[in-house]
Amino acid sequence: MLETLRKIVQKVSQARELEKVLSIIVDEVKTATEADVCSIYLENEAQDALILMATNGLNSDCEGRIFLPYGVGLVSLVAEKGEPVNLSNAPAHKRFHLFPQLEETAYPAFCGIPIISHRKTLGVLVIQSCQQQEFSEEIVNFLFTISAQLSSAILHARAVNAIPRFQSGNCPFLGIAGSPGIVIAEAVLISSSQKLTTIPDRYTNDTEQELMIFNQALAQVKSEVQELSQALAQQHLPREDVAIFDAYLMLLNSSSFFYSVESHIHAGNWAPGALRKTIEEHIEVFNQMQNSYLQERGKDIMDLGQSILDKMTGNVDEQIQFDYDVILVAEDFNLMSLSKLNFERVKGLVSITGSYNSHITIMARAMAIPMVIGLDDLPLREISGCQLIVDGYSGKVFVSPPVEIKQEYRYLEQQEREFSKSMETLQDKPSVTLDGHPVPLYLNMGLDDTSQDKNNYGAQGVGLFRTEYPFMINSRFPGEKEQFQWYQKIADRFAPDPVVMRTLDIGGDKDLSYFPIEEENPFLGWRGIRVSLDHPEIFIIQLRAILRANKKHNNIHILLPMVSTLDEIDEAKDILLRAFNELYEEAQQPMMPKLGVMIEVPALIFQIEQIAKLVDFISIGTNDLIQYLLAVDRNNPQVASIYESFHPAVIAALHGIISKSHKANIPVSVCGEMASDPLASILLIGMGVDSLSCNIAALNRIKWVIRSFTRSEAQQIVREVMQQDNARAIREILTLELEQKGLGGLVRAGK
Ligand code: PEP
Ligand code: MG
Repeated sequence: MLETLRKIVQKVSQARELEKVLSIIVDEVKTATEADVCSIYLENEAQDALILMATNGLNSDCEGRIFLPYGVGLVSLVAEKGEPVNLSNAPAHKRFHLFPQLEETAYPAFCGIPIISHRKTLGVLVIQSCQQQEFSEEIVNFLFTISAQLSSAILHARAVNAIPRFQSGNCPFLGIAGSPGIVIAEAVLISSSQKLTTIPDRYTNDTEQELMIFNQALAQVKSEVQELSQALAQQHLPREDVAIFDAYLMLLNSSSFFYSVESHIHAGNWAPGALRKTIEEHIEVFNQMQNSYLQERGKDIMDLGQSILDKMTGNVDEQIQFDYDVILVAEDFNLMSLSKLNFERVKGLVSITGSYNSHITIMARAMAIPMVIGLDDLPLREISGCQLIVDGYSGKVFVSPPVEIKQEYRYLEQQEREFSKSMETLQDKPSVTLDGHPVPLYLNMGLDDTSQDKNNYGAQGVGLFRTEYPFMINSRFPGEKEQFQWYQKIADRFAPDPVVMRTLDIGGDKDLSYFPIEEENPFLGWRGIRVSLDHPEIFIIQLRAILRANKKHNNIHILLPMVSTLDEIDEAKDILLRAFNELYEEAQQPMMPKLGVMIEVPALIFQIEQIAKLVDFISIGTNDLIQYLLAVDRNNPQVASIYESFHPAVIAALHGIISKSHKANIPVSVCGEMASDPLASILLIGMGVDSLSCNIAALNRIKWVIRSFTRSEAQQIVREVMQQDNARAIREILTLELEQKGLGGLVRAGK
């Protein structure tokens, strides 16, 4: 059975059409179980019924036509209970109902298994037999396995195919909120052109012609990437958000890439075939690394290859030039597709796949474009031209909504515009509570091109400067001089305000292509300070560069990531001292920066007192702290719903860290994404955090919250929240508090 299962799963994963998927399943399952009938019924929300989608054994004329209502018959009983029903004599069961069109009277034995994905019943897989006996446990278990393995394939196939599922638009599709905001506009499907992977090899003897085709396409893509990179830089996006384009350019300019395509052409292949081969060879290298970050880079290379192919074949999606407002919908956006966009007109983004931390989602947030991701059941083929409402606060997408819902959202949209406008005035106002307690706000940044952007967005410095991005876009470790220049720029830009430089935090999902780390559990493995301490020769270069950059304004602080023991702090201090002494001996007159530790590993919560004796400040990295406290991978969409900032244990941990830090007389800040969340910021203020470090887009929003509460109000809210035993109740309390202050628009559509 295992072999059969493997075969079915493989066949299904190769088929993209829903009909094909279902027909493979019914044929194969019928054969494997030696049943007389195998059928699949899928849920049809519009009809509130199950619809027969495929059968091998019953009347196939009924496929797509017969609707089995809930409450009637055995198939719907399986769906209602979400459990199997295995009967030797189905007609004797009280829920049995004969649907004569199906022609099933000859098959008394019935076994129905629910098809469930993410707790939701999608349909029912049924086998029937003319022999009056229950199906064996082995067969039932086999059906369970098939059903569990295939549910996501069915969901996916359903998404890219139109099935009779939605008819009216007052019931929204529910995904994950990727970027806040609401928008109403027409959907445009970004369809993929001829897929690079399907390009065949073709013999040609006109090598010159093929080389010319390749060179022209390459040059066009290069210039598009350059233009896009510049356009994004002008939008003042953080450097790390545009860094991917530097990586694209590096590949496009690399001689190994160029010569590989050229050699395949010289060997007689036509340009598209030579390109496909080269891209496959490059991707193979990344795939073998079994690391999620590097596999993502493999996807980037495929995107690039696809863009070059589009240029070669003239297969450019003309829809992408719009002169009206649009919401782009795609199965999966790739950054290259951005290069074809007129940003002015792109008002929203909807993606079938994707995760909260993907590049495109980060970029959407930075550009304040509302986005919903993870809508696996959105019927893509029917979407183009439909009017959509995208609610990036709640993750809802309405398709062709009725007029009342549209009116409601238009009103909210208008309010949202007014709300955003009123926030612009905050930039120059101080970040103090209503009763005058300052809560300084800092920025989270990667390296930025300071010569272009002089705006500090009203922040009082940089609270987290992630130094790993420049390491990631390079093809080798950057040297001391190179690093010094980066750090110096940022120190200059913010001086005399402080800049907290976090030392290299690679590992987890952030690997360097030239320093691959292969591990079973990378988030529990060789990360952050662990790598730096194991490679003092690399660490000391970074510390020397930071110390040199600090000399001019003495405004740099150093922050250590992923610390889990006090020994690590001691060792890091030894190496810092070594770097300091070296520079001193070189007559460089270094100044020792303040040193801080990130609290990301829960173990440190119990050692705050000792930490306070070793360093000058503490910064809480809630992104990792939450994942380690709750044992939930922060990048895994499968468990995204239980990655919960308002879990009472998270709140208790934060409260503990902040109060213990104060008791130990050490300043404490929050630099994880919780500091950029208006709801969480009320709690952090109430807990008495000394400062917050947020992303650029959130800065004014958080300032508004700070300026709207007195410290004692926030403290009272913390007391109330800490009585609660679940995240839902905590969110409700905080949302209500924001609403009462007239700030509800920060966390939902409208003012
Ligand atoms: C964090 O973990 O909260 C943090 C700020 O670090 P990063 O997101 O870079 O892991
Ligand atoms: Mg972290």
